[in-house]
Amino acid sequence: MRIGGIDVTIDYSWFVMFFLVLYIMAESYFPRVHAHYSTVQYWIMGGVAAILLFASVLVHELAHSLVALRHGIRVAGIRLFIFGGMAEVVSEARNGRQEFLIALAGPATSMGIGAGLLAVHFTTVSLSSAVAGIAWWLGWANILLALFNLIPGFPLDGGRILRAFLWDHWDDLARATRVVSRIGNAFALFLIILGVLQFLLTQSLLSGLWLVLIGMFMKQSAAGGYQAIMLKQALAGVEVRQVMTADVVKVDWLTPIDRLIQDYIYRHQFTQFPVFNREEFVGMVSLEEVKTVPRELWGFKQVRDVMTPVELVPSLRPADPAGEALSRMTTENGCMPVVENGSLLGIVTRRDILDLFKIKSDLGAA
Ligand SMILES: [Zn+2]
Repeated sequence: MRIGGIDVTIDYSWFVMFFLVLYIMAESYFPRVHAHYSTVQYWIMGGVAAILLFASVLVHELAHSLVALRHGIRVAGIRLFIFGGMAEVVSEARNGRQEFLIALAGPATSMGIGAGLLAVHFTTVSLSSAVAGIAWWLGWANILLALFNLIPGFPLDGGRILRAFLWDHWDDLARATRVVSRIGNAFALFLIILGVLQFLLTQSLLSGLWLVLIGMFMKQSAAGGYQAIMLKQALAGVEVRQVMTADVVKVDWLTPIDRLIQDYIYRHQFTQFPVFNREEFVGMVSLEEVKTVPRELWGFKQVRDVMTPVELVPSLRPADPAGEALSRMTTENGCMPVVENGSLLGIVTRRDILDLFKIKSDLGAA
């Protein structure tokens, strides 16, 4: 699904949350608060409320993404999953002000939606108690979403906002990230303890478990976010040409598949090779593509039959930042060709970049 040029993907885990909300709204919340409807009507109200809740989460993430795009920051897409949504930004903000605006956009939007829905509640309350009831619940859900996200621990929006201030103040992104990651970690621990206590005191397994899971997810994200920044700092100023392998093993496009397997894949133990027609770089062939050919056809098919033609191969330029190359490679396999004016200069793998990072951080620690 694409909205405003941004890819939106829905994770399977999201459906668990969706049906949980639907069930709780239809079976528990609406019957308790609005007593005079039928079961079918409660389920319709629950369905409308659940769909609108997830639309609200999506709008929150779209707000982050659109502000990021406006500042020239690439957005890989929005992922909706069991704990809500996440806008996946490829490159990070360049300064504190940008980070502040991107982070603030989400909670500000949720707050606006919440206020709007409460206004809807008060204008419809005399006309339809169902509409007014949904607007009331959804309005508060949006306001809570905004407030929860404003807690100043990374990776929550509030953590990003605080980090933006500290970043501007200290002019040291790593230090700012370390502080908000620690706050995020402490808050995550607090949620986990709260979840356990809730379970022990109220025997409510579901809400207790829920808090524990959110806490664990946040703890992991806080640590991951910090590592990502350290990686980015170590790779600052490093260009793709400095980490690429220039001396690559080339495959002629007329090579039969069985020779490709014997003489290239087994021998060099790479999973991807650049393909050439004489001197011209024409595509990439990978082990994955070879696997699509039935074994009995290996002697008859050639590399050019299975390769990805050069127009469709995602590639890097020699002057691209290594950090950006790395974030692109998490999604596009572990290996990319480096191309300038149509000719192949070399290959970069995830390994190459991560090895450089490891060497740099070892040297830094020494
Ligand atoms: Zn947000």
